Amino acid sequence: MVGEVSGPTRKKVNSQTPQGVRHKYVGVSGLLAQKQRLKHRRAFTDLSQRLETGETRKRGACLRCRMQRIRCYADPNDVHGPCSTCQGVSGPTLAQLPCLRYKISETALFDKGRHPQYIWSQRWKEMKIVEIKEWETSEVRTVELTQDIGNAVYKVNVRQFIPVEGDALERKWTTNGEARSYRCSSWAIVNMKETGQHLMKFVKDHIKTSIEYFIGNSDELLRSTYDMAFEHSEKAAATEERRLLRDALKLWVAIRMESRSERICSEENLGMVPQQFDPVAPNFNQVLVPPVMSAQIELIMTAMVLQPLKKAVLAQLQELIKANRSRSWFTIYLCLFVLLHSCALLTSFENMQAIKYGLQTRYVYAPFIEELHHGSKIMLAYFHYCNKGGYPFATDWTIERNVKQAELNPDQLRFLTKTAQLVEKNSTLFKHIAKESEFEHDFFFVSRLYNTTWQPF
Ligand SMILES: [Zn+2]
Ligand SMILES: [Zn+2]
Repeated sequence: MVGEVSGPTRKKVNSQTPQGVRHKYVGVSGLLAQKQRLKHRRAFTDLSQRLETGETRKRGACLRCRMQRIRCYADPNDVHGPCSTCQGVSGPTLAQLPCLRYKISETALFDKGRHPQYIWSQRWKEMKIVEIKEWETSEVRTVELTQDIGNAVYKVNVRQFIPVEGDALERKWTTNGEARSYRCSSWAIVNMKETGQHLMKFVKDHIKTSIEYFIGNSDELLRSTYDMAFEHSEKAAATEERRLLRDALKLWVAIRMESRSERICSEENLGMVPQQFDPVAPNFNQVLVPPVMSAQIELIMTAMVLQPLKKAVLAQLQELIKANRSRSWFTIYLCLFVLLHSCALLTSFENMQAIKYGLQTRYVYAPFIEELHHGSKIMLAYFHYCNKGGYPFATDWTIERNVKQAELNPDQLRFLTKTAQLVEKNSTLFKHIAKESEFEHDFFFVSRLYNTTWQPF
């Protein structure tokens, strides 16, 4: 659901204050504001203690205390430094993991503005479903849309609407610096809520199609892990593990869809002809989607697919990590692999867009990339705590005791052994990517799952 075919497109244009940027540190101004608020609360006599408690609450407990379900006490001499628990940790492995106050719910997994792109329509001021009410006629037609991912197609019911101020009725782009436009007929989705339910089913039904399309057979480690994630989402013994993996894969599909545009592919074309005047443009020979419909699709995908899936995935992931069961490790690994690889794909997409539009910057929207990378750190931190200092990919799986302890079945065992070999084979590449900070590389984030001496980067 990428924007117009030219110009640095989509949400960037109107996401000056993206909803995702939350405070990460309480700076001096934050502390001052807090102090001023406290002046009005006479009940608290010990201001410094009060500040400290407020600080801890705001910061949240550190990962180690969270995992151990104990209270996290900051060091009174250095409230921003490691907590008292972390200071007391010694030992060869766990001690290497620093004190991090990360919450898994802070993880950014995709980028969305506060409303659908205004270049399409200005009807919607936030990402909330509000149906169109003013229609030109009562006739309802059905069109099929595709993003040309395999043969995946979905249907929407549309009706001719009465345009209002701010509705775009043409698609615009530039070719070789020249402005082009394509007149669209004014049809829009009749029932956005219902379409949202269909789209949720669509992402569920097209996990395999999307793995085939976006991953293909280019790399054995990638493909075998995605295949295993899909298989495990159907076969895992525990319901909650199947659900988590299924939701993570659905989210992955939905995020991939955000980087592509739709076209109308049904015989029903709402009276529009294919774009045949600009053979250079990527939309050549296509029947283009009316802009208001594009705004609706962006809204539906955000409010009814991406946001609910993100919430569900992060909540379930947190639950599963906290439950601290050894058999869940396998599911957690697969889930994080998929989410971390998505992080690399998004980074790469942002970079390619910046190149495509000749920007001087590495990414179209750097704050999002920063947030995304911070999120990957959070996921990796949890994973390495989850491993409890052990290195599953360096473990000798020929020793039966190890297999039994991890509660692995023969299939999983074979998969892990193979993964360990592929990781070994790629070790030089992994080091190179890390050294050169190749954030766009498929393995930049994923390879850190295999680090035996992981530190936040
Ligand atoms: Zn702590
Ligand atoms: Zn700590």
